[in-house]
Amino acid sequence: MKPLEELVRKNIWSLAPYSSARDEYAGKEAHVFLDANENPYNAPYNRYPDPLQKEVKAMLERVKGVPAENIFLGNGSDEAIDLPYRIFCEPGRDNVVSIVPTYGMYKVCADINDVEYREVLLDEQFQFHADDVLKACDAHTKIIWLCSPNNPTGNSLNRDEMLKVIEGFEGIVIVDEAYIDFARQQSMRQELPAHSNLIILQTMSKAWGSAAIRLGMAFASKEIIAIYNKVKYPYNVNQLTQQQAMAMLKDPFEVDKTVKILLQERTRLMQSFLELPICEKIYPTDANFFLARMTDATRIYDYLVEQGIIVRNRSRIQLCDNCLRITIGTRTENNELLSALRQY
Ligand SMILES: *Cc1c(COP(=O)(O)O)cnc(C)c1O
Repeated sequence: MKPLEELVRKNIWSLAPYSSARDEYAGKEAHVFLDANENPYNAPYNRYPDPLQKEVKAMLERVKGVPAENIFLGNGSDEAIDLPYRIFCEPGRDNVVSIVPTYGMYKVCADINDVEYREVLLDEQFQFHADDVLKACDAHTKIIWLCSPNNPTGNSLNRDEMLKVIEGFEGIVIVDEAYIDFARQQSMRQELPAHSNLIILQTMSKAWGSAAIRLGMAFASKEIIAIYNKVKYPYNVNQLTQQQAMAMLKDPFEVDKTVKILLQERTRLMQSFLELPICEKIYPTDANFFLARMTDATRIYDYLVEQGIIVRNRSRIQLCDNCLRITIGTRTENNELLSALRQY
């Protein structure tokens, strides 16, 4: 990896971050707070939340086995995806490399930040080859995006190929593990100590069943996390979100229970899809959704909308001709989908 100072934009490297009232007294015991122009009434919502979410991170440290200083928390993964563009990529000059098809936010954030977005097509099995990705890079490539399990394809990327990219690239590699709790493959978290250019993204939105609270995580070296913290909005994770996240993290085994149910339902739903005459192929998945190639995806999609059932039409995406992406729901919801499709 290049020295961090070379990878980070000059204005960010030299940035003096906003110093909040609560940052300045840190460490001392206090009970009268007349520093932040808060209203003393309407507790507990009158006070600014902890800008570094220390209690949440202390719980995550235990659940994820990653030290708190290696954790960034954001307003969904969306924030953790946008920030590296602002940290590393000089608009109009630098570029990033990604696989295709993959999650749409990487490109949207590239476009917003005026950063060139280079796409490397996956093969027919939706796998990627490290050499192809590395070949797409040049001296201005700052970030490589990998998503595993990948969205919308559902499969995990080959771990050895991911490591080859991480080890062969001078810049930052971001592995988005939004669906890792559904996967047979292990998280790349254990690779963090050995790879200072690695950023891993996870989220409370999927397996943790908490999309509404908007809490995304980035795991990385403490140097990279310190820059994330410098650039983020001071109070980017609100108090209600922090409280609800801690309530969920108290019971990490509850998550395992719903994951197990969803994986059983996934097997059942996929088997039933195979028996539908309008389904031509289902793709292997490591996530809480699967991709199905249909006879006529758009007509079937429209028909399902008529029935009040919404799936994701991915048929206009490269390599996904005639594909619908089906999220696994409750048993009742899945049965409703199946009976609608049987009557198509
Ligand atoms: C759903 C999803 C996320 C989650 O985004 P949040 O902003 O945390 O809700 C991140 N990455 C991928 C690939 C996803 O599919």
